[in-house]
Amino acid sequence: MPKCCPKCDHPHFVKNGFVGETQRFKCKSCHYQFTTEQLERGKPLWMKLEAVLLYLGGLSLNATAKHLDVSVQSVLNWVRDFAKANYEKPEPEKVVVVELDEFWHFVGSKKRVWIWKAYDRDHGRLIDWELGDRDRETLEKLLERLSQWEVTVYCTDHWKGFEAPLGNHSEAHHVATKTETLAIERNNSDQRHWFARFRRKSKVVSKSEEMVELTMALFAKFHVNGSIDLLRNWRLSLLT
Ligand SMILES: [Zn+2]
Repeated sequence: MPKCCPKCDHPHFVKNGFVGETQRFKCKSCHYQFTTEQLERGKPLWMKLEAVLLYLGGLSLNATAKHLDVSVQSVLNWVRDFAKANYEKPEPEKVVVVELDEFWHFVGSKKRVWIWKAYDRDHGRLIDWELGDRDRETLEKLLERLSQWEVTVYCTDHWKGFEAPLGNHSEAHHVATKTETLAIERNNSDQRHWFARFRRKSKVVSKSEEMVELTMALFAKFHVNGSIDLLRNWRLSLLT
């Protein structure tokens, strides 16, 4: 619940309809109209980081909002802004084994999105990913970017769709066997472990593919390729 008018700091205001699903208020003193979200924009940085940490720790956006006593929309905005500011993929270089796999996720109750992933086995890194359908077009987009990498061997499962596109985009050997994709499968299950949204039965809060993409970036940067400790320490430094 908001405390005072963001324009004149007056403590008295009344509910005044909705903007979409967000409650709107009207100041009794200056008549300025504002939403909960607008008020929460002024929340301290440590709280915004806390929201990101909770989301990264596996809480849903809904549960995070409840825990911090703010709106779900605010949590979504903070996580999105943070993920955009920290979005990065590793720079292309020489690697020996890259495992490729695809992974599906519901956006909305019926619609599925496929997340194609490339995992650098030598360094245990997620080096790239692409969202789309389980089709050649989506795979080609990923392979097009991966062609900047110097890869010795690509490992995939037996899905026939890998063969032709890999041949077109890379000189690398292709090994198609389930026993050589264990690392990326472990990475898929880590992803489901860490994020409420990737568990098959979870209630989906954000249906946007943009949030799926940004969540992938957070997962890569803070759980696979790097550590969440930097973020924890930053938040702690704001509290002491
Ligand atoms: Zn006012």
